[in-house]
Amino acid sequence: MPCSLAPPLLTANRLLAALPRRLHPPMLACLEPVVLPLAHVLVVPGARMRHVYFPTAGVVALLAQVNDHPPVAVGMVGAEGLVGLSMVCGERVAAVGAIVQVAGTALRLSAQARRPGGPLWGALQVLVGRYTGALVLQLAQQAACSQFHGLEARLGRWLLMTHDRAPAEAWQLTQHFLATLLGVRRESVTQAAHRLQARQLIDYRRGQLRLLDRPGLARVACPCYVQMQADDGRTSPHRR
Ligand SMILES: [Zn+2]
Repeated sequence: MPCSLAPPLLTANRLLAALPRRLHPPMLACLEPVVLPLAHVLVVPGARMRHVYFPTAGVVALLAQVNDHPPVAVGMVGAEGLVGLSMVCGERVAAVGAIVQVAGTALRLSAQARRPGGPLWGALQVLVGRYTGALVLQLAQQAACSQFHGLEARLGRWLLMTHDRAPAEAWQLTQHFLATLLGVRRESVTQAAHRLQARQLIDYRRGQLRLLDRPGLARVACPCYVQMQADDGRTSPHRR
């Protein structure tokens, strides 16, 4: 939903911040600030995509769905990336869904800037090409992770990744939503969260989750977290 953030900070999104300086004013003119409420659906799989979002705060989960099974999170996007990658690449129908996992804000791109051949199109393609590499690595690692690592270690990784993108004091997060994001039953994620809480790594009550001991959580998290951090560093648009 549109909001009254003025003026929007283009550099609050790392991908946009990597644009050449001379393109900041025309790009800003094509961006609309929007609020991302918790659990707001940005993209519905199989539906026509209408916008590209550059998060400036908060976290968006990318969701995949197989037949009638509940959707499961396959990736995570914060201020380092964008939502609607395939749309920038010319697709019109979404293959992967997107839902707001931690409330925040974003800059939404108008159709004008997405027009092939437009003045911003070439610069966008360069950024998107670089980001695609990072996202593909993240999706691949997450797919392998779900096969080989236990729920507690995956939950630890997921919390660290979220904290990297939304280093707030606490997040609003229901157990049902957390179970959906991790693709497990609610009872299972409740037990895993209780074990982390018993070790005083997190505090989770009344739908509020707070990290208490990040170094301790890093020791519990599966090694995919470190691998994903290394991949992000290799493919970041800010890499010199
Ligand atoms: Zn893992």
